[in-house]
Amino acid sequence: MVDLRSDTVTCPTPAMREAMARAEVGDDVFGDDPTVKALEERAAAMFGLEAGLFFPTGTQSNLAALMAHCARGEEVILGQDAHTYKYEGGGAAVLGSIQPQPLANLPDGTLDLAMVEAAVKPDDSHFAITRLLALENTIGGKVIGRDYLAKAVTLAWKKGLSTHLDGARIFNAAVKLGLPVDQLCAGFDTVSVCLSKGLGAPAGTVLVGHSGLVARARRIRKMLGGGMRQVGILAAAGLYALEHNVERLAADHANATRLAKGISAAGWEVETPQTNMVFVKVDKASGAALQAHLAAAGVLVLVSPRTRLVTHLDADESGIDRAVAAFASFNRSAAVAE
Ligand SMILES: *Cc1c(COP(=O)(O)O)cnc(C)c1O
Repeated sequence: MVDLRSDTVTCPTPAMREAMARAEVGDDVFGDDPTVKALEERAAAMFGLEAGLFFPTGTQSNLAALMAHCARGEEVILGQDAHTYKYEGGGAAVLGSIQPQPLANLPDGTLDLAMVEAAVKPDDSHFAITRLLALENTIGGKVIGRDYLAKAVTLAWKKGLSTHLDGARIFNAAVKLGLPVDQLCAGFDTVSVCLSKGLGAPAGTVLVGHSGLVARARRIRKMLGGGMRQVGILAAAGLYALEHNVERLAADHANATRLAKGISAAGWEVETPQTNMVFVKVDKASGAALQAHLAAAGVLVLVSPRTRLVTHLDADESGIDRAVAAFASFNRSAAVAE
């Protein structure tokens, strides 16, 4: 089976498991776990920020970050398609009493900065207090470049907003751009970085940021039930991932291009990938038949009208070629006619 549903499906390699087995641990709620501390320090240093904090998930890391930035009744400006707005159960509103101010993402994934500026509320008792601008990179597999990010953080600074970056896949962006993450993310107050996606750890996200914000996020993490104990065994996987699995993301990007070219050559409408995500247009009528056809060929995909295929370190070139062959051998006209 080649599983292209997401880059979260990777399994830890023997070398990663070895690092996990050897990890020194302690009770991290007491601050006693040396491996967690090492991961938090390493991640903060990579981003040129003061402190790091290990979370079980990216959702909890984003929520704790938003709650660290915004008090009850304050507002975050974010994208309509942002994970923090659309895919986290409304947690910032439900658990943080934070008002979201969503703006439509442009086709390249950015927000129109004139619209951001216009959305910042004046100091007037009718309005929520706009506190935070939250962006995402990559977003839907698209890379947001440094020029835009620099303009966005400058605007936020000018308007007195703090900034959060959902960098679940920030290393995909950094590898694609050939920029170190401290340069790419310069100016953001906090960045949330998933270790369990393309980087291949079984779980974990690290939030990096200014020390005051990270200290607040630590209290909030405990409140959200995210204080973990001998969790160095997971942090060891994260450290291993940061040391060994960043540069190799280029191979996932190359595989995504190979996949897109192959499927396109077989007559499907495919969006040119920027990182490790390929989107293929699928007729509604043939969706179920395609999903079954791919599964029978050993290719696991979640079919939808805009089907997303994600490459990762457990999908090698032979798996990619198998997926291409399975798309090519699907008889679309027959399936639609049925
Ligand atoms: C996966 C993801 C998250 C958080 O993920 P968890 O599944 O909670 O670890 C946050 N933002 C983006 C953009 C993501 O892709």
